[in-house]
Amino acid sequence: MALIVQKYGGSSVGDIERIKNVANRIREYHDRGDQIVVVVSAMRGVTDHLIGLANQLMPIPTEREMDVLLSTGEQTTIALTAMALHSLNLPAVSLTGAQAGIQTDGVHTKAKIQNITPTQIHDLLDAGNVVIVAGFQGRTPDGNITTLGRGGSDLSAIAIAAAVKADLCQIYTDVDGVYTTDPRVVPNARKLEEIAYDEMLELASLGAKVMQSRSVEYAKKFGVVFEVRSSLNANPGTIVKEETTAMEGVVVRGASLDKNQAKVTLVKVPDHPGVAARIFRFLADAALNIDMIVQNISHGSDSPSTDLSFTVEKVDLAKARKLFDGLKSEIGFQELVTDEDVAKLSIVGVGMRGHSGVAARMFETLAEAGINIEMISTSEIKISVIIALDVAEKGLAAVHKAFVEENTTGA
Ligand code: ADP
Ligand code: ASP
Ligand code: MG
Repeated sequence: MALIVQKYGGSSVGDIERIKNVANRIREYHDRGDQIVVVVSAMRGVTDHLIGLANQLMPIPTEREMDVLLSTGEQTTIALTAMALHSLNLPAVSLTGAQAGIQTDGVHTKAKIQNITPTQIHDLLDAGNVVIVAGFQGRTPDGNITTLGRGGSDLSAIAIAAAVKADLCQIYTDVDGVYTTDPRVVPNARKLEEIAYDEMLELASLGAKVMQSRSVEYAKKFGVVFEVRSSLNANPGTIVKEETTAMEGVVVRGASLDKNQAKVTLVKVPDHPGVAARIFRFLADAALNIDMIVQNISHGSDSPSTDLSFTVEKVDLAKARKLFDGLKSEIGFQELVTDEDVAKLSIVGVGMRGHSGVAARMFETLAEAGINIEMISTSEIKISVIIALDVAEKGLAAVHKAFVEENTTGA
């Protein structure tokens, strides 16, 4: 008998037929004698629909009420999933995040899990029930409902698996596993048998929405090994786990594209000590997350100036523009230029640590495809470039072909 946590995402519970399909799968495990905790998302499209309703009333809705609203999506699914199990004569009880003992901080719409007290979950399991928990939500110590950021049901599942010390954690979605890149964008993408936490974390934060990046961070921290697999077939999925030496044999594990970036350039910024510090302090105080930064060489010797570019999330662009419009004379730059038509293309792999020439090979591949590179950033296990949005998918396909399909290593 195993204790299993299974998470079903929005498309896996997208309509009543899919929910019945989920119930049948749960029954298979239940009939084997396993104890099962099921974490579910809102039905596909529901969270977006609720956000749309809120936006009709307020462009920036009150965050506490937003959480009350969004949590209803998952609450609908837990009740329907429990009913689907009851119709199969299986004992099942649904729990909201609060009832399941998920305590968070008070940062509405992107709360962090502080601790989980799974007493209720264990009691219900011990009484023979399948326990269905609402993903994406928790409660603050003083009783307010919170949500964990978009895609947050992944985090609920991983955190519950850690709290109940599950033998197995399965993330069911609408693809067979983690692929070398989004299989809906690059049909030649390959399913990975396994991937290291750090690689999954980079791919997720660089645009692969198959797992929420915070959930991967949590899994790494608490050592939760999990499998990403399809709710629509019985194929084995992808195991996400701690890095092994064998994994270093592959230079590029995968590639991803993030179309949610925008580029901001401050033209002719005075080039003397302290200016960059002030600019990025203003951004930090406005809670704007900056990713890539490029500063050009200085021009002019009497009062040298430079162009400074950085990327922000597209949703934050209006905020960044407003911030710098108000700081023009204070900082003393000449012009603010923004570009939303960009994308960030990245390649990721722990094997890059031991290889040289990977960046050169990536840039050559893009050059051969006639794609201009606007910004570059690298870390030990990833290389990212900013390119024009209209050639982003072409760039992804070219890079995927070079590193994955043709398996060039760069060296
Ligand atoms: P769920 O609703 O189950 O949480 P998501 O829509 O959040 O599912 O994530 C699954 C989707 O992630 C897939 O349909 C796929 O298009 C996309 N995706 C992006 N990158 C990858 C990748 N590298 N491997 C697999 N799927 C990916
Ligand atoms: N329903 C939430 C969302 O759409 C959480 C999730 O699906 O994981 O972001
Ligand atoms: Mg998801």
